[in-house]
Amino acid sequence: MKYISTRGQSPALSFSEILLGGLAPDGGLYLPESYPQFSDADLSAMRDMNYRDLAFTILSRLIDEQDIPSKDLRVIVDKTYRAEVYCYTRKGQNAEDITPTLKLENNLYVLSLSNGPTLAFKDMAMQLLGNLFEYVLAKKGETTNILGATSGDTGSAAEYAMRGKKGVNVFMLSPHEKMSRFQVAQMFSLQDKNIFNIAVKGVFDDAQDIVKAVSNDHAFKAANKIGAVNSINWARVAAQVVYYFKGYFAVTQNNRQKVSFAVPSGNFGNVCAGHIARMMGLPIDKLVVATNENDVLDEFFRTGVYRPRGSANTYHTSSPSMDISKASNFERFIFDLTGRDASKVRELWSLVDAGGAFDIKQAGLFEKIASYGFVSGSSNHLHRMNVIREAEAKYGVVIDTHTADGLKVALELRDVNTPMVVLETALPIKFEDSIVEALGHSPERPAPLQGIEDLPQRFEVMDADVDAIKAYLVANT
Ligand SMILES: *Cc1c(COP(=O)(O)O)cnc(C)c1O
Repeated sequence: MKYISTRGQSPALSFSEILLGGLAPDGGLYLPESYPQFSDADLSAMRDMNYRDLAFTILSRLIDEQDIPSKDLRVIVDKTYRAEVYCYTRKGQNAEDITPTLKLENNLYVLSLSNGPTLAFKDMAMQLLGNLFEYVLAKKGETTNILGATSGDTGSAAEYAMRGKKGVNVFMLSPHEKMSRFQVAQMFSLQDKNIFNIAVKGVFDDAQDIVKAVSNDHAFKAANKIGAVNSINWARVAAQVVYYFKGYFAVTQNNRQKVSFAVPSGNFGNVCAGHIARMMGLPIDKLVVATNENDVLDEFFRTGVYRPRGSANTYHTSSPSMDISKASNFERFIFDLTGRDASKVRELWSLVDAGGAFDIKQAGLFEKIASYGFVSGSSNHLHRMNVIREAEAKYGVVIDTHTADGLKVALELRDVNTPMVVLETALPIKFEDSIVEALGHSPERPAPLQGIEDLPQRFEVMDADVDAIKAYLVANT
């Protein structure tokens, strides 16, 4: 299995060759040269598998034996998806399921993806990435210094995945005093020697700009082995494909049944994995893209126009992990939509990269979107608060603000005769203030996380100054 770029001007590479990088050299994103196909017989054989066996079965079709031998992949997968790691289950759920489902009513489910160490679905992929990084770096005799910027979820998921890993340091920039107390405590209480938290005086975009500036300094980047774990990383998308299979099998009895998934979306990483699961043969009916007030994706699926907004026009909302101005994984879907026409993708993104927009209708492709199962809708603060209240009143379940956006759109667009699975992307305790606003009381806090705000914190406060951050990196590697 080789990986090709959506812009068609980079050499095809193996899974482990693209593992540590981000964008392809031509600016595109990597995808498998063709999607592995799971037949009806394959699906039947997979139906009763546990999460580890399912993950191994799917990933071994994406990774060549000569690249990562299957006995090694088996060890990596078994180490990653353990009940002890995904232990923040609700009452009645079995942590062994890794991503257990929760039935709300007939044909309406929640798939719990947030039972991992940082209580957000990003753990599902990031934990695998941590173990893959350690394995591939050791094999190559290399090290890497991961530099990232976070407004909360991504940074903590990366740190919990990479903590204590050999050959990896993490330098995570976050906006000083702009994250929730819980998020700060989660990240800054880590005492591992390979984790460096840098609180930048400024907002998230200042932190992000520093990461971009360092990454664009190619000499510095090479000399200091700077790496990234952002959402365009192919291994992250690949890891996310697995839980669509798990969710599908959990709510069906046979492979003739179809299932729809509702996905709270920002960078289009999560729902892109659903698209890929569908391309691999999983019987998915609809992929429901749910956005918040930052509705770039909803606009596209309704009108065919993709118009990124720019960070100055991005709203800060109560589902903050979906506050994006452009959807960095979206190019993967458009590549497939154009029939994998890399020159068309280059043409469309030349408009986007120049700060503009494109209209897929002009390319005659708007009608084709429906054949990929995509539909969309958006949600806002008022909807979110109402849905959180309704979910508690009707189902006795407290959901977080992002999952509420998913449920809101799912209820609008579902066909009651088809199972609808809403992906739970975070646990409510991560966004406690919003839950208190909606319900008048705090959500349940898992026992091991009681009092994490009082633990000693290890972090550095720094100015938003590229040279100072570079010097800090050099001094600590
Ligand atoms: C990252 C995140 C999302 C958005 O996922 P994408 O893959 O960027 O579409 C939604 N909800 C939560 C809680 C997240 O952390």
